Amino acid sequence: MAEDILTMDDGSQWHQVTTSQVIVCAFCDNIVDTEEEAQSYANGGTCPSCSNSWTEKRSVTIGVAAPTPIAGQT
Ligand SMILES: [Zn+2]
Repeated sequence: MAEDILTMDDGSQWHQVTTSQVIVCAFCDNIVDTEEEAQSYANGGTCPSCSNSWTEKRSVTIGVAAPTPIAGQT
């Protein structure tokens, strides 16, 4: 996974805040990788993991900005 690093004027480096949305089964938290896959389950399908009729739950994960040590600095 690519990581975006922001470099400030003072030379400090920060991870850029990123958000990503994941689609998971509401019953067993089985993670669906793609929107297309979720759609195929939504059309009367069942969760391949727990066999309940598909009920999706979306959660957004938010990356937290954090300073990154600068190589070579003492
Ligand atoms: Zn499930």
